[in-house]
Amino acid sequence: MSDENKVADDKVVSLHYTLTSDEGEVLDSSQGGDPLQFIQGQGQIIPGLEKELYDMEVGEEKQVTVPPAEGYGERQPDQVQTLPQDAFPNDMEIEEGMAVQMRDSNTGQVYQAVITDVATESVQVDFNHPLAGENLNFDVKIAGVRAATDEELSHGHAH
Ligand code: ZN
Repeated sequence: MSDENKVADDKVVSLHYTLTSDEGEVLDSSQGGDPLQFIQGQGQIIPGLEKELYDMEVGEEKQVTVPPAEGYGERQPDQVQTLPQDAFPNDMEIEEGMAVQMRDSNTGQVYQAVITDVATESVQVDFNHPLAGENLNFDVKIAGVRAATDEELSHGHAH
């Protein structure tokens, strides 16, 4: 019966984690808050971390390094685009380093981006995920494991 406490597909996992860059900078952490909850095996967390959690037990800790290919992908040079100033609202103050949401006028889809350079007539915008190209160093601890309810499985998320 000990398998009940092990991470497996369709289990709701509560995970404490700290994410650190290769430079040692803490990028994200659940410490001091609630653990992350997700259903294992449904791609709700990045694949390189999810696969390392199988068979871990409640209370168990692990260090996992996820390469870009299994994290947020490699940086794509063609995702850095130069847009005309008038692609932005007139009253918007555009600054380097600013996070913006850009809507594709054809599809209506909204993209997250970061402004990386501002020139007189043009603005350079980086549509890469901020963690693209980075190794993701996780310290994880399994805080809880339980079977997902039928309702959770049909909704596709933990309650
Ligand atoms: Zn629901």
